[in-house]
Amino acid sequence: MKERVALSRYTTLGTGGPARWLATPTSVDELVVLLGWAAEHDLPVAPVGLGSNLLAADEGFEGLALKLAGELASAEADDGRLVAGGGAPLAVCLHRARAVGLGGIEFVCAIPGTVGGGVWMNAGAYGGDVSSVLDRALVADAKGARWLTPGELGLRYRRSGLAPGQVVALAEFRLEARPVDEIKVTVADMQTRRKAAQPTNKRTFGSVFKNPEHELTAGRMLEACGLRGHAIGGARISPKHANFIENDGGARSADAIALIAEARRRARAEFGVFLEPEVQLLGPIEIPPLD
Ligand SMILES: Cc1cc2nc3c(=O)[nH]c(=O)nc-3n(C[C@H](O)[C@H](O)[C@H](O)COP(=O)(O)OP(=O)(O)OC[C@H]3O[C@@H](n4cnc5c(N)ncnc54)[C@H](O)[C@@H]3O)c2cc1C
Repeated sequence: MKERVALSRYTTLGTGGPARWLATPTSVDELVVLLGWAAEHDLPVAPVGLGSNLLAADEGFEGLALKLAGELASAEADDGRLVAGGGAPLAVCLHRARAVGLGGIEFVCAIPGTVGGGVWMNAGAYGGDVSSVLDRALVADAKGARWLTPGELGLRYRRSGLAPGQVVALAEFRLEARPVDEIKVTVADMQTRRKAAQPTNKRTFGSVFKNPEHELTAGRMLEACGLRGHAIGGARISPKHANFIENDGGARSADAIALIAEARRRARAEFGVFLEPEVQLLGPIEIPPLD
């Protein structure tokens, strides 16, 4: 366990103050012990995956951040199944599956996160999402760990029914046999489309807002509001895709929050739409409510 660890090192945007504690459990037993310890000390718990959808408060997080490691971050594929730790990068899962000719999770090539973050968010792209391939997940809390089905996890569009303090320790995916060459072609096609549409070489946290029930996506709506390139402090709305915020160098999380608030205000004023944030917040940080 380490004390006062800068969260900016653990988020793709590169912002965020220190976590009071950061622990790296390597087994389910260690994880449950740590969750029990946090409950005893009345500390909030936050698993951090690859921080690719995370906006951490500049003031930091007065709790226990968990970075899953060891068997909780590895992945194995065999016999139509992929078994992965919650901390395993989705890219590694794709690699393991492809190596044994298993397909169905090609869509994760677009998602730079972990299995646990993917379950928490029900992450998805190009018509696939975690709920479409997940068989079950081992979810730990201070009392122990138990396997939950996608239904029990409450997976919906970019969210799950998991509560703070519940950690995805392991997950099992059902995959299908697919020729390796076909998998490679699908992945290459998705990556080309991604590169053309979104900023790929910038520090961002992926989509800022979920797509609203509207003919325009969140990105198109914010573009129509004239927000492409709009900057506050060191953060700016991507000139390439208006539903992304980039760190131009010296951004703070507060700059990103100010941009999010401005984008929501403009979307409501010009389209009458309340945009719901997709990005997850950590620590004393919040998006000001719309009046
Ligand atoms: C360039 C870019 C492109 C992206 N494209 C997509 C896309 O196409 N589709 C999409 O869905 N997302 C996309 N994202 C967003 C992001 O990659 C996903 O939401 C991903 O699932 C987050 O995973 P993570 O491990 O980075 O989670 P983090 O960002 O670290 O955490 C996100 C949330 O998940 C929780 N969490 C993390 N690990 C666990 C765990 N083990 N157990 C329980 N909760 C956990 C965290 O506490 C937090 O609330 C993109 C992001 C970037 C930067």
